[in-house]
Amino acid sequence: MQIGFIGLGNMGGPMAANLVQAGHHVTGFDLAAPMPQGVTAASSAAEAAERADVVITMLPNGAILRAVAQEIIPAMAEGAGFVDCSTVDVESARAVASQAEEAGLLPVDAPVSGGVGGAAAGTLTFMAGGSEQAFNKAQPLFEIMGQKAVHCGGAGNGQAAKICNNMILGITMIGTCEAFALADKLGLDRQAMFDVVSTSSGYSWTMNAYCPAPGVGPQSPADNGYQPGFAADLMLKDLRLSQQAAEAADADTPMGAAARDLYARFVEAEDGAGKDFSAMLPRFEKRGRGA
Ligand code: NAD
Repeated sequence: MQIGFIGLGNMGGPMAANLVQAGHHVTGFDLAAPMPQGVTAASSAAEAAERADVVITMLPNGAILRAVAQEIIPAMAEGAGFVDCSTVDVESARAVASQAEEAGLLPVDAPVSGGVGGAAAGTLTFMAGGSEQAFNKAQPLFEIMGQKAVHCGGAGNGQAAKICNNMILGITMIGTCEAFALADKLGLDRQAMFDVVSTSSGYSWTMNAYCPAPGVGPQSPADNGYQPGFAADLMLKDLRLSQQAAEAADADTPMGAAARDLYARFVEAEDGAGKDFSAMLPRFEKRGRGA
Protein backbone atom coordinates (compact mmCIF):
# COMPACT_ATOMS: atom_id res chain seq x y z
CA MET A 1 0.00 0.00 0.00
CA GLN A 2 1.10 3.58 -0.62
CA ILE A 3 0.96 5.42 2.72
CA GLY A 4 1.41 9.10 3.53
CA PHE A 5 2.56 9.70 7.13
CA ILE A 6 2.45 13.19 8.63
CA GLY A 7 3.93 13.80 12.10
CA LEU A 8 6.93 11.54 12.67
CA GLY A 9 7.73 12.41 16.28
CA ASN A 10 8.10 10.11 19.29
CA MET A 11 5.03 8.10 18.32
CA GLY A 12 4.69 8.62 14.56
CA GLY A 13 8.35 7.79 13.82
CA PRO A 14 8.29 4.21 15.12
CA MET A 15 4.75 3.64 13.78
CA ALA A 16 5.90 4.61 10.27
CA ALA A 17 9.00 2.44 10.65
CA ASN A 18 6.80 -0.57 11.43
CA LEU A 19 4.74 0.05 8.28
CA VAL A 20 7.96 0.12 6.20
CA GLN A 21 9.12 -3.10 7.84
CA ALA A 22 5.84 -4.75 6.87
CA GLY A 23 6.54 -3.90 3.22
CA HIS A 24 4.45 -0.76 2.70
CA HIS A 25 5.73 2.24 0.80
CA VAL A 26 5.66 5.21 3.18
CA THR A 27 6.12 8.87 2.21
CA GLY A 28 6.52 11.10 5.25
CA PHE A 29 6.42 14.74 6.23
CA ASP A 30 7.34 16.44 9.50
CA LEU A 31 8.29 20.03 10.29
CA ALA A 32 11.22 18.96 12.46
CA ALA A 33 11.60 15.23 13.17
CA PRO A 34 14.02 13.14 11.10
CA MET A 35 12.65 10.56 8.63
CA PRO A 36 12.80 7.01 9.97
CA GLN A 37 14.82 4.60 7.86
CA GLY A 38 13.00 3.57 4.70
CA VAL A 39 10.51 6.45 4.74
CA THR A 40 10.67 8.68 1.65
CA ALA A 41 10.78 12.36 2.60
CA ALA A 42 8.17 14.69 1.06
CA SER A 43 8.62 18.45 0.93
CA SER A 44 5.10 19.21 2.21
CA ALA A 45 2.14 17.52 3.86
CA ALA A 46 0.21 17.75 0.59
CA GLU A 47 3.01 16.01 -1.28
CA ALA A 48 3.04 13.18 1.29
CA ALA A 49 -0.73 12.81 0.88
CA GLU A 50 -1.17 12.84 -2.88
CA ARG A 51 -1.34 9.38 -4.47
CA ALA A 52 -1.60 7.74 -0.99
CA ASP A 53 -4.11 4.93 -0.45
CA VAL A 54 -4.14 5.91 3.21
CA VAL A 55 -2.80 9.01 4.98
CA ILE A 56 -1.94 8.71 8.68
CA THR A 57 -1.47 11.78 10.87
CA MET A 58 0.18 11.75 14.33
CA LEU A 59 0.19 15.39 15.44
CA PRO A 60 0.32 17.34 18.70
CA ASN A 61 -3.22 18.81 18.88
CA GLY A 62 -6.54 19.61 17.21
CA ALA A 63 -5.54 23.03 15.84
CA ILE A 64 -2.55 21.52 14.02
CA LEU A 65 -4.67 18.61 12.80
CA ARG A 66 -7.25 21.06 11.36
CA ALA A 67 -4.50 23.04 9.58
CA VAL A 68 -2.89 19.91 8.14
CA ALA A 69 -6.29 18.52 7.09
CA GLN A 70 -7.04 21.76 5.27
CA GLU A 71 -3.87 21.27 3.26
CA ILE A 72 -4.03 17.54 2.52
CA ILE A 73 -7.73 16.88 1.88
CA PRO A 74 -7.74 18.63 -1.52
CA ALA A 75 -4.56 16.75 -2.49
CA MET A 76 -5.92 13.28 -1.67
CA ALA A 77 -7.44 10.86 -4.15
CA GLU A 78 -11.16 10.08 -3.83
CA GLY A 79 -11.74 6.91 -1.77
CA ALA A 80 -8.45 7.23 0.13
CA GLY A 81 -8.36 6.60 3.87
CA PHE A 82 -7.53 9.42 6.31
CA VAL A 83 -6.53 7.95 9.66
CA ASP A 84 -5.78 10.44 12.42
CA CYS A 85 -3.98 8.75 15.31
CA SER A 86 -3.30 11.97 17.28
CA THR A 87 -5.10 12.64 20.55
CA VAL A 88 -7.26 15.71 19.84
CA ASP A 89 -10.55 17.26 20.99
CA VAL A 90 -13.70 15.49 19.86
CA GLU A 91 -14.93 18.62 18.08
CA SER A 92 -11.83 18.89 15.86
CA ALA A 93 -11.99 15.16 15.09
CA ARG A 94 -15.63 15.48 13.97
CA ALA A 95 -15.00 18.67 11.97
CA VAL A 96 -12.08 17.12 10.08
CA ALA A 97 -14.03 13.89 9.47
CA SER A 98 -17.00 15.73 7.94
CA GLN A 99 -14.70 17.80 5.73
CA ALA A 100 -12.96 14.62 4.59
CA GLU A 101 -16.24 12.83 3.94
CA GLU A 102 -17.47 15.71 1.81
CA ALA A 103 -14.34 15.28 -0.31
CA GLY A 104 -15.11 11.58 -0.82
CA LEU A 105 -12.46 10.30 1.60
CA LEU A 106 -12.76 7.61 4.28
CA PRO A 107 -11.88 9.26 7.61
CA VAL A 108 -11.18 7.47 10.91
CA ASP A 109 -10.15 9.04 14.20
CA ALA A 110 -7.97 6.41 15.85
CA PRO A 111 -6.11 7.66 18.92
CA VAL A 112 -3.85 5.15 20.61
CA SER A 113 -2.96 3.79 23.98
CA GLY A 114 0.37 2.11 24.65
CA GLY A 115 2.85 5.00 24.51
CA VAL A 116 6.25 5.17 22.87
CA GLY A 117 7.08 1.59 23.88
CA GLY A 118 3.89 0.30 22.25
CA ALA A 119 4.58 2.36 19.11
CA ALA A 120 8.05 0.84 18.76
CA ALA A 121 6.92 -2.72 19.52
CA GLY A 122 3.82 -2.50 17.29
CA THR A 123 1.55 -3.27 20.24
CA LEU A 124 -0.62 -0.15 20.39
CA THR A 125 -4.36 -0.26 21.01
CA PHE A 126 -6.42 1.83 18.57
CA MET A 127 -9.79 3.32 19.51
CA ALA A 128 -11.49 4.09 16.23
CA GLY A 129 -14.40 6.26 15.14
CA GLY A 130 -15.76 6.33 11.60
CA SER A 131 -17.84 4.39 9.11
CA GLU A 132 -17.54 0.61 8.77
CA GLN A 133 -15.98 1.07 5.34
CA ALA A 134 -13.37 3.54 6.65
CA PHE A 135 -12.53 1.31 9.61
CA ASN A 136 -12.11 -1.72 7.33
CA LYS A 137 -9.75 0.21 5.08
CA ALA A 138 -7.53 1.12 8.05
CA GLN A 139 -7.74 -2.26 9.81
CA PRO A 140 -4.74 -3.96 8.08
CA LEU A 141 -2.55 -1.02 9.14
CA PHE A 142 -3.84 -1.17 12.71
CA GLU A 143 -2.79 -4.81 12.74
CA ILE A 144 0.79 -3.86 11.88
CA MET A 145 1.11 -0.91 14.26
CA GLY A 146 -0.86 -2.43 17.11
CA GLN A 147 -2.31 -5.50 18.73
CA LYS A 148 -5.91 -4.39 19.03
CA ALA A 149 -8.32 -1.99 17.31
CA VAL A 150 -11.79 -1.35 18.70
CA HIS A 151 -14.38 0.22 16.42
CA CYS A 152 -16.22 2.57 18.80
CA GLY A 153 -18.83 3.96 16.41
CA GLY A 154 -19.06 7.07 14.27
CA ALA A 155 -16.67 10.00 13.81
CA GLY A 156 -15.15 11.31 17.03
CA ASN A 157 -16.00 8.22 19.06
CA GLY A 158 -12.37 7.05 19.08
CA GLN A 159 -11.39 10.33 20.74
CA ALA A 160 -14.35 10.03 23.11
CA ALA A 161 -13.20 6.56 24.20
CA LYS A 162 -9.62 7.75 24.62
CA ILE A 163 -10.42 10.72 26.86
CA CYS A 164 -12.91 8.77 28.97
CA ASN A 165 -10.31 6.03 29.50
CA ASN A 166 -7.61 8.52 30.39
CA MET A 167 -9.91 10.44 32.70
CA ILE A 168 -10.38 7.20 34.68
CA LEU A 169 -6.61 6.61 34.54
CA GLY A 170 -5.75 10.10 35.89
CA ILE A 171 -8.33 9.89 38.67
CA THR A 172 -7.23 6.38 39.62
CA MET A 173 -3.55 7.28 39.69
CA ILE A 174 -4.24 10.16 42.06
CA GLY A 175 -6.35 7.87 44.27
CA THR A 176 -3.66 5.20 44.35
CA CYS A 177 -0.93 7.73 45.18
CA GLU A 178 -2.85 9.50 47.92
CA ALA A 179 -3.73 6.13 49.47
CA PHE A 180 -0.03 5.13 49.52
CA ALA A 181 0.88 8.47 51.12
CA LEU A 182 -1.81 8.00 53.77
CA ALA A 183 -0.69 4.42 54.38
CA ASP A 184 2.90 5.69 54.92
CA LYS A 185 1.70 8.14 57.55
CA LEU A 186 -0.32 5.41 59.27
CA GLY A 187 2.81 3.24 59.50
CA LEU A 188 1.64 0.65 56.95
CA ASP A 189 4.40 -1.06 54.99
CA ARG A 190 4.15 -0.38 51.24
CA GLN A 191 4.57 -4.01 50.28
CA ALA A 192 1.76 -4.99 52.64
CA MET A 193 -0.38 -2.20 51.20
CA PHE A 194 0.28 -3.52 47.68
CA ASP A 195 -0.36 -7.14 48.66
CA VAL A 196 -3.74 -6.25 50.14
CA VAL A 197 -5.01 -3.69 47.63
CA SER A 198 -3.84 -5.51 44.50
CA THR A 199 -6.01 -8.47 45.53
CA SER A 200 -8.88 -6.51 47.09
CA SER A 201 -11.60 -4.17 45.89
CA GLY A 202 -9.20 -1.20 45.61
CA TYR A 203 -7.27 -2.94 42.83
CA SER A 204 -6.74 -1.13 39.55
CA TRP A 205 -4.37 -0.96 36.59
CA THR A 206 -2.44 1.83 38.35
CA MET A 207 -1.89 -0.34 41.43
CA ASN A 208 -1.50 -3.76 39.84
CA ALA A 209 0.33 -3.04 36.57
CA TYR A 210 1.93 0.39 37.04
CA CYS A 211 2.47 0.67 40.79
CA PRO A 212 3.63 4.22 41.70
CA ALA A 213 5.70 3.00 44.69
CA PRO A 214 9.35 2.12 43.86
CA GLY A 215 10.36 -1.47 44.54
CA VAL A 216 6.77 -2.63 44.93
CA GLY A 217 4.74 -4.58 42.36
CA PRO A 218 5.85 -5.05 38.76
CA GLN A 219 8.60 -2.96 37.15
CA SER A 220 7.25 0.55 36.46
CA PRO A 221 8.54 4.13 35.95
CA ALA A 222 8.68 4.46 39.77
CA ASP A 223 11.61 2.01 39.63
CA ASN A 224 13.37 4.28 37.16
CA GLY A 225 13.29 7.61 39.00
CA TYR A 226 9.85 8.41 37.54
CA GLN A 227 11.22 8.86 34.02
CA PRO A 228 8.22 8.55 31.66
CA GLY A 229 6.51 6.16 30.76
CA PHE A 230 3.52 8.34 30.35
CA ALA A 231 4.46 11.93 31.14
CA ALA A 232 2.39 14.00 33.57
CA ASP A 233 2.28 16.67 30.84
CA LEU A 234 0.47 14.27 28.48
CA MET A 235 -1.93 13.23 31.23
CA LEU A 236 -2.69 16.92 31.77
CA LYS A 237 -3.39 17.33 28.05
CA ASP A 238 -5.82 14.40 28.06
CA LEU A 239 -7.57 15.55 31.26
CA ARG A 240 -8.04 19.00 29.72
CA LEU A 241 -9.55 17.39 26.62
CA SER A 242 -11.90 15.38 28.85
CA GLN A 243 -13.10 18.55 30.60
CA GLN A 244 -13.44 20.45 27.32
CA ALA A 245 -15.65 17.60 26.06
CA ALA A 246 -17.59 17.46 29.35
CA GLU A 247 -18.35 21.16 29.10
CA ALA A 248 -19.49 20.88 25.50
CA ALA A 249 -21.70 17.87 26.32
CA ASP A 250 -22.96 19.28 29.66
CA ALA A 251 -21.65 16.24 31.58
CA ASP A 252 -20.99 16.48 35.33
CA THR A 253 -17.42 15.23 35.91
CA PRO A 254 -16.25 16.58 39.30
CA MET A 255 -13.51 13.98 39.78
CA GLY A 256 -12.17 14.56 36.27
CA ALA A 257 -12.09 18.31 36.94
CA ALA A 258 -10.25 17.78 40.24
CA ALA A 259 -7.72 15.51 38.52
CA ARG A 260 -7.17 18.11 35.79
CA ASP A 261 -6.59 20.85 38.37
CA LEU A 262 -4.16 18.73 40.36
CA TYR A 263 -2.10 17.69 37.29
CA ALA A 264 -2.10 21.34 36.12
CA ARG A 265 -0.64 22.40 39.47
CA PHE A 266 1.86 19.55 39.43
CA VAL A 267 3.10 20.25 35.89
CA GLU A 268 2.85 24.04 35.74
CA ALA A 269 3.47 25.28 39.29
CA GLU A 270 5.42 22.44 40.91
CA ASP A 271 8.09 20.03 39.67
CA GLY A 272 5.99 17.57 37.67
CA ALA A 273 6.95 18.64 34.13
CA GLY A 274 8.87 15.89 32.36
CA LYS A 275 8.14 13.30 35.06
CA ASP A 276 5.98 10.24 34.76
CA PHE A 277 2.36 10.78 35.82
CA SER A 278 2.88 8.34 38.71
CA ALA A 279 5.28 10.87 40.32
CA MET A 280 2.15 12.10 42.11
CA LEU A 281 3.24 9.70 44.88
CA PRO A 282 6.44 11.57 45.88
CA ARG A 283 4.38 14.76 45.55
CA PHE A 284 1.83 13.57 48.12
CA GLU A 285 4.56 12.02 50.28
CA LYS A 286 6.12 15.43 50.90
CA ARG A 287 2.90 17.17 51.89
CA GLY A 288 0.57 17.49 54.84
CA ARG A 289 -3.06 18.61 54.90
CA GLY A 290 -2.23 22.31 54.95
CA ALA A 291 -0.22 22.24 51.69
P1 NAD B 1 5.76 14.58 19.25
O1 NAD B 1 5.75 16.02 19.64
O2 NAD B 1 6.97 13.77 19.53
O3 NAD B 1 5.42 14.44 17.68
C1 NAD B 1 4.58 15.30 16.96
C2 NAD B 1 5.28 15.61 15.65
O4 NAD B 1 4.42 16.39 14.82
C3 NAD B 1 6.57 16.41 15.82
O5 NAD B 1 7.64 15.70 15.25
C4 NAD B 1 6.29 17.72 15.08
O6 NAD B 1 7.44 18.25 14.42
C5 NAD B 1 5.23 17.29 14.09
N1 NAD B 1 4.42 18.39 13.59
C6 NAD B 1 3.86 19.41 14.28
N2 NAD B 1 3.17 20.21 13.43
C7 NAD B 1 3.30 19.68 12.19
C8 NAD B 1 2.83 20.04 10.90
N3 NAD B 1 2.06 21.11 10.73
N4 NAD B 1 3.17 19.26 9.86
C9 NAD B 1 3.94 18.16 10.03
N5 NAD B 1 4.43 17.77 11.22
C10 NAD B 1 4.11 18.51 12.29
O7 NAD B 1 4.47 13.95 19.97
P2 NAD B 1 4.16 12.39 20.17
O8 NAD B 1 4.56 11.99 21.54
O9 NAD B 1 4.63 11.64 18.99
O10 NAD B 1 2.55 12.44 20.21
C11 NAD B 1 1.79 12.56 19.03
C12 NAD B 1 0.32 12.42 19.40
O11 NAD B 1 0.11 11.16 20.04
C13 NAD B 1 -0.19 13.48 20.38
O12 NAD B 1 -1.48 13.85 20.00
C14 NAD B 1 -0.17 12.76 21.72
O13 NAD B 1 -1.12 13.27 22.63
C15 NAD B 1 -0.53 11.35 21.28
N6 NAD B 1 -0.07 10.29 22.20
C16 NAD B 1 1.21 10.30 22.67
C17 NAD B 1 1.62 9.30 23.53
C18 NAD B 1 3.03 9.27 24.07
O14 NAD B 1 3.30 8.48 24.99
N7 NAD B 1 3.94 10.06 23.55
C19 NAD B 1 0.73 8.27 23.88
C20 NAD B 1 -0.54 8.26 23.34
C21 NAD B 1 -0.94 9.29 22.50
